[in-house]
Amino acid sequence: MKSMTKQKPIEEIQQSLEGLDKVFIVGCGTCTTLTNTGGVEQVEEMKEKLQEMGKWLTGTLVIPTACDDMTDVAMKENEQAIRGADCLLSMSCALGVHRLSLYLDIPVIPAVDTLFIGVEETPGYFREACAQCGQCFLGITAGICPITACHKGLVNGPCGGTNNGKCEVDKEKDCAWTLIYNRLKEQNRLHLMRQYQPPRNHHVTLQPKSMKIS
Ligand code: SF4
Ligand code: SF4
Repeated sequence: MKSMTKQKPIEEIQQSLEGLDKVFIVGCGTCTTLTNTGGVEQVEEMKEKLQEMGKWLTGTLVIPTACDDMTDVAMKENEQAIRGADCLLSMSCALGVHRLSLYLDIPVIPAVDTLFIGVEETPGYFREACAQCGQCFLGITAGICPITACHKGLVNGPCGGTNNGKCEVDKEKDCAWTLIYNRLKEQNRLHLMRQYQPPRNHHVTLQPKSMKIS
């Protein structure tokens, strides 16, 4: 599983850095390195872009995994350079931004947008497998998630637009409900297609989500 990210437009980053002249850049050696949005190379490129904007770089760092406990250690090791900065520009996913913000008083500005948590289906191709909807349907959909695989997130069978097994929203894409139908048929469990699912209970995903494990 990896956090999938894309770099924000440089104009947006520039706007976020208005009034913040001294910058420390942090990348992540795990997910954003894999997606080429915040590894060593991208941090170096970002450094050059910020210097062209007239920013003063107090330092750069690529933390092995920006969202875990070791981030604390990395922050301490670079304390002096970080203290000298007006802000930290994070090239990690949102989990990394959150983690970095725990340790710092200065603003932590995200340089990437976090899109979804992806599983690698074929080499280099990541697909969102679960949107943590809080009400899992996989048991009745033969293991295919209707929330992430169907463009409309339908849980009671296909919409009227499905055509020859393709999705009306993206004709290149298989209709999730055709896939579900075919797999249920293979499993001899087609009766599940007739099982009515009541409207989704959005109370199970009230924000902020939290859970205590005893
Ligand atoms: S139905 Fe899909 S989004 Fe919901 S919990 Fe199951 S896999 Fe995740
Ligand atoms: S065509 Fe299939 S995948 Fe596309 S929105 Fe309709 S039901 Fe969902």
